[in-house]
Order: sequence, then C-alpha cells, then structure tokens
Amino acid sequence: MSDKSVRVRFAPSPTGPLHMGGVRTALYNYLFAKKHNGTFIIRIEDTDQNRFVEGAEEYILEALKWCGITPDEGQGVGGDYGPYKQSERKEMYKPYAEQLVKNGKAYYAFDTGEDLDKMRKQAQQMKMPNWQYNSVTRSSMQNSLTLPEDEVQKRLENGDPYVIRFKMPRNEDVRFEDKIRGWVVVNTNNLDDKVLYKSDGMPTYHLANIVDDHTMKITHVIRGEEWLPSAPLHVLLYEAFEWDAPTFAHCPLLLRPDGNGKLSKRDGDRLGFPVFPIDWIAADGEKYSGYREKGYLPGAFINMLAFLGWNPGTTQEIFSLEQMIEAFSLERVSKAGAKFDADKTNWFQQQYLRAESPTTLAKMLREKTGSELQNVADAYLEQACVLMKERATFVEDIYTEGKYLFENPTEFDAKTVAKKWNELAEELMLEWSNKLEALNTFDAENIEKSFKAFLEEKEQKIGKVLPAFRLVLTGKGMGPSMFEIAALLGKEESLSRMKNNIPTIKGLKA
Ligand code: GLU
Repeated sequence: MSDKSVRVRFAPSPTGPLHMGGVRTALYNYLFAKKHNGTFIIRIEDTDQNRFVEGAEEYILEALKWCGITPDEGQGVGGDYGPYKQSERKEMYKPYAEQLVKNGKAYYAFDTGEDLDKMRKQAQQMKMPNWQYNSVTRSSMQNSLTLPEDEVQKRLENGDPYVIRFKMPRNEDVRFEDKIRGWVVVNTNNLDDKVLYKSDGMPTYHLANIVDDHTMKITHVIRGEEWLPSAPLHVLLYEAFEWDAPTFAHCPLLLRPDGNGKLSKRDGDRLGFPVFPIDWIAADGEKYSGYREKGYLPGAFINMLAFLGWNPGTTQEIFSLEQMIEAFSLERVSKAGAKFDADKTNWFQQQYLRAESPTTLAKMLREKTGSELQNVADAYLEQACVLMKERATFVEDIYTEGKYLFENPTEFDAKTVAKKWNELAEELMLEWSNKLEALNTFDAENIEKSFKAFLEEKEQKIGKVLPAFRLVLTGKGMGPSMFEIAALLGKEESLSRMKNNIPTIKGLKA
C-alpha cells in the first residue's frame, strides 16, 4: 500500500538523552512512513520547561542521524507545518483551549497549589489517598463551573492565575482500536480532569500534542506503551474538537534481560551494555555510555532494535534498512514486552562487521587505532582484516586479537607451551623451517601443500605439528588458518620468527 498522505511523527521531549526504547519508537515510525511512501516528522515537545535539559535536543537529533533515521520534515529540517518545536508554537495553543471552554468541554480553574494540597490532605485523612480533580470533586473547587459567571470574568480580567482543565465526562466508556493492542476500552470514571493549559501560559503535553498532531496532519500516532493511559483522554480531546483522531499504535516496553521490569537508564552500565545510542554526559558529570562510542555499527544497532518487539514472520534476521522498510508492518509488532538481549546484540554486531568490505574495515581500524598501524600498507591491513574479522566483535578486536600480524609476539600462550611443546615439536619445527625456506611460491595454498607433505613424510598427525607452528609464528593457541597467516607475514618474516621464537619457547619450557 502506498499512501502519500501517511504522516507520522516522533515527538520526543528534551528531558534527557534518548533511551534506546525511544530510538526504537523513532525507527518504527520511520519504517512505517517509508513503507507507505509517507512522511516522517520530528517534533520537539518541550512544553514542560521545568524538565528541560540542556543539550538533550541536540543529542536526540545527533543520535537519530547516527542511526540513519532521517526525518523528511521537522526540527532541524524544516517543512510546511513548522515551527516543529512546541515552545516556538506557544501562542497557537491558547485559542484552542478557549474554544473548548466555550463549547463546554473544558473550564477555568482558579484553585491555588495550596487549595489543591488542602484537598489532598483532607482526602487522605478520610482514607482516600488518591484524590483527583474529577467529575465528582470539581463541584467543590473554585472553577468556572462552580463560580458565578461575573466572578469568573472578574478574576480573568484581574489576571488571577488559572489553568484550563478538561471536563472529563462521568461514567462513559471511551473505546478506540489500537493497531498493536486491538480494542482498548476505558471508563471515564477512572480518569481525571487533566490540565490542558497552564498558569504559565504554556499548554500541557496533552493539549499541545493533540493540536500539533491535528494541525500537522498526522495520520498515525506510533509511540511507547507509557502513553497508553493518556490515549483515552486524547481520543476525547479529538471528539471535543470534532476532529478525526489519528490511528494509534502503542509499542511494547523494553524489558531487562531477565524480563524483570522495564529497562531503565541505570540498567545499562550496571549490567554491562549501553542503554543509549550515543554517549551522554549528565549535568552532574556522570557518563552514560552509548552504542556508537562502544564501537557498534549503526546498522547492527538498528537491526537489533527492530527485532525488539517486531519480527518479519520468517527466519531472516539480518535486514538492511531498505529490507526492513519492505518487511515492516504494525500488525507484526507484538504487544508483549520485549526482552533486551546483550548477546544477541553482539551477534548482530559481528554479522555486520563481517559484512563490511576489507577497505572499509581497514579504514575503520586505522581510525580506531593510534600510530600502531601507521607503517602498515593498506593492502596488508586489508588482508589482515579479512583474516581476523570472523573472530572480532568490534573492529579494534582485529588489532588486539591479531597483533601478531603486525609484530613478532613477545608472549607465548602458557597452556599451549605446556601441552604442545616438547623436544619432538622443536625438532619438527626446525625441519619445517627448512621446508618453508625452500618454497618458491610463498602463498597459503603452497604452504598448506608443503605442510601436508611434511606431515606424511614425518608420519605425524596434524594436531602434533600445527599447534607448534602456530605457537612459533603467533604466540597463540588458536586463530585463523596458519597457512593464510604465514602467507600474509611473508617468507622473510615467517622464517625470522621461526629462527628467533623456537629458542625463546624452548627457554620458556626449561
Ligand atoms: N513527548 C512525548 C515523549 O516524550 C511523546 C508522546 C507522543 O508521542 O505522543 O515521549
């Protein structure tokens, strides 16, 4: 289905760094928009100035950029429905709130903070701990429903502080069909008279969100499950304005790896994996680590995130962004919470790393390492990457795991020395060294052929000889093909290591 009128938005509040659950919401919005040839919009919801955090907006935009989740319209991009930041739209909202007052769907409330505290305390004393401003209690409060009209006018003219509250109907069932959850029914007796417009002249999230979604022609609201309790109010607001409501889809929560509760910002560094897309330094100096700085590839991160709550219905797991767009549907997003799995995340990372071209890997490795690889030629480095990438999770592992490809080892794996080195091994290595020297074509194929002939000649099993060879050239007990390694090191370096390292290992054994 292609429908250019599909318009979705990701609407974060700049109250801190974007949690990976937020990135997933952005991703699902993006995939849905692209799938339908629609428009993906970024809107910044900053009506709550008390929760504003310096740098959060920049962080959000940068994180999405790193992930490749590119907005078509919105904050930082522009478009026909701007501004895309609610504080810059401030003036727009009041007439809408007043329209609802005129229609009898909302009312002015003059109660001060103290009045409200008093009511809460009284209720507590009467063993009703959860006092709410609602269809029952509003009749004993100071508002335009209880005060005479001229008194209300007087207060407004005086500039007395007020808020505008939604007049929640009594005992009505609100129903709407959520694309992920199916039918949702909530009775209004469980809902309170939410503030729509605040005394500081700012709309609340609820009013601004509805007005913006309507005026920006949003067709589908795809957001986190934490907003599900607000959805009935939103549905009633659309009705109150006599606007068509968008289609709602509430994405499942991200759960801790053990399934016990919501994945929170503190879990990451505690359990050893990032919860944020990129690093975030909080105002108090505390650092929260991000996937980007840990060395994850954005494609792997996004692929992993897509699967936290969605599946394609096939066994395919590796999806490019284009393939994800093709395969994505809200119908295949599950309503059950999705458990984060750090091992699976690393698996995705490994797959993505392996899929990179040798040229890209070499380039990335140079960026990650300092001067260590300065004198290594590109072609050599590329081959080293090809050899080592199967054993790497992050690009720098190619260097740390395969350091012997760049310098003669100074350490020799103690276990292998103990188990695989003896007089016979030494003798065989000295002889094998001569065979290597006699080789004219020093490539992997030839070295292997010669090695097999050597085994036959000596009537030896591979398990007796190959580990000793590996130990001498690399210092390790395990690694990629020894024939490839020797070929890459080249004849001269291989022979020099044979000459120098055999006595060193012998010394270790003594
Ligand atoms: N501003 C809300 C948030 O920070 C967005 C809720 C919505 O998408 O309606 O998550």
